[in-house]
Amino acid sequence: MRIQAPLIAALALAAACSPGESSNPAPVQQPQPRLTESPSFGRMPNGDSVSLITLRNQHGIEVRIMPAGGTILSLKTPDRTGAIDDIVLGFDQVEPYLQKTNPYFGSVIGRSANRIAKGRFVLDGKTYQLATNDGENHLHGGNRGWDKVLWTSEPFQHAEGVGVALKYTSPAGEEGYPGTVTATVTYTLTDQNQLTVDYRATADAPTIINLTQHSYFNLGGAKTTDILGHELMLNADQYTPVNATLIPAGELAPVENTPFDFRTPTAIGARINDQNEQLTRGKGYDHNFVVRRTGPGLELAARVVEPATGRLLEIATTEPGIQFYSGNFLDGSITGKGGRVYPHRSGFCLEPQHYPDSPNQPTFPSTVLRPGEEYQSQTVFTFGVVK
Ligand code: BGC
Repeated sequence: MRIQAPLIAALALAAACSPGESSNPAPVQQPQPRLTESPSFGRMPNGDSVSLITLRNQHGIEVRIMPAGGTILSLKTPDRTGAIDDIVLGFDQVEPYLQKTNPYFGSVIGRSANRIAKGRFVLDGKTYQLATNDGENHLHGGNRGWDKVLWTSEPFQHAEGVGVALKYTSPAGEEGYPGTVTATVTYTLTDQNQLTVDYRATADAPTIINLTQHSYFNLGGAKTTDILGHELMLNADQYTPVNATLIPAGELAPVENTPFDFRTPTAIGARINDQNEQLTRGKGYDHNFVVRRTGPGLELAARVVEPATGRLLEIATTEPGIQFYSGNFLDGSITGKGGRVYPHRSGFCLEPQHYPDSPNQPTFPSTVLRPGEEYQSQTVFTFGVVK
C-alpha cells in the first residue's frame, strides 16, 4: 500500500530545516549514519539482551526503538526554529518498561488494544476468558501483553527509508487468547518526515487481534509541562460513549455540540473540565473516535499543533477508530527519562485501532482473524512545523 498522508507538514519541516545562508563557512560535520544498531541496551528478566535501533533522516529526525515491546524510546524532531527535542515520554532503561506501573509508554499493544468487557468473548460459539488486568476488564493484551515481550528485530535500509522489522510469535493460550499468532510490525522512517508503522499477522486458529502503537506525545519537548495547550483536530463526526468501566455502550454518538467535537482545531484543555458525564467517566478524554472515511485506505485521523514550538503531528491510518487519551492517569508518580517526573496530563496518546470491546459488539467492525487470512494495518505519523 502506498503512503498518501498529507505532505504539507513534511514539506514545511523540510523548508525549516534547510541550511540558511551564511558568510562564514560552517565547520564540516560528519553526517550521522541513517541506521545504527547497538547490541546491548539492556536485558530481559531471563537475561536475553535487548538491542537498540536508531533511525535518522536527513532533516534531523531521530527515532530510537527497542525490540522489547517494539517500543519507541525516543522521537526527536525539530521545532520551528530547528531546535531538536524529544517528543515522547518513556524511560532510560529496559527494566521500568516491563513493570506493571508502566502505562504502556511507546510500545506496540497486542493482541488486543483497549478494553474487552470482563475479559470475555464468544467466537464460533466458544467462550474465551482472557486475563483481567483493569478491574474486571481486559486491557491492552493482559498482564504480559506484547508490550512486555521480546520481539526479534531485522533493521533495514532501502530506497524508501530506514527501519526495523519486528517479529513475534504469540503462543496459543497466551493471556487466554486462542490460536498461535505470528505478527510482524515494521517501523520505517523516511526523508518525507514520516514514520510508518505496518502491522501484519496470521493465525493458525480463529482468534481476535487489534494492534496499535501507544506513544505518549508532548510536542512541546522533554520539559514535561502539560499538553492542555496542544491544538487537536480529530477527523471524526462520532465517538463511542463509555460506561463507568470505559466499555462502549454500543452507540456511535455525534460529537456535535459536545466537548468531543474536535473537527476544527481546539486546545485539548479548552473543554476538558466541562460538566459532562463522559468526561467524568474518562477522567478527561479517554475515548474512541470514529474516523470519517472517504475509502478503505489511509485516512487522516488527527492533526496536533503545539503553538509555542510550532511542532505539528499528523496521523493517518487504515484503522476505523482512534483512541484519544489525554494522559489522565499520569499523576506525578512516574519518573521517566533524564529523571523527569511526568505530571498529570503531560503526554497524550492517539492510538489508531478498532473500537474498544469489538469482540462483544456485533455492530462494530470485526477484529476476528481466521486461518488463511492476513491481518493488515498501517499508520503513518507525519512530523512538521507551522510558522
Ligand atoms: C487507555 C487508558 C489507559 C492508558 C494506559 C490508554 O490506551 O485508553 O484508559 O489508562 O492506555 O493504560
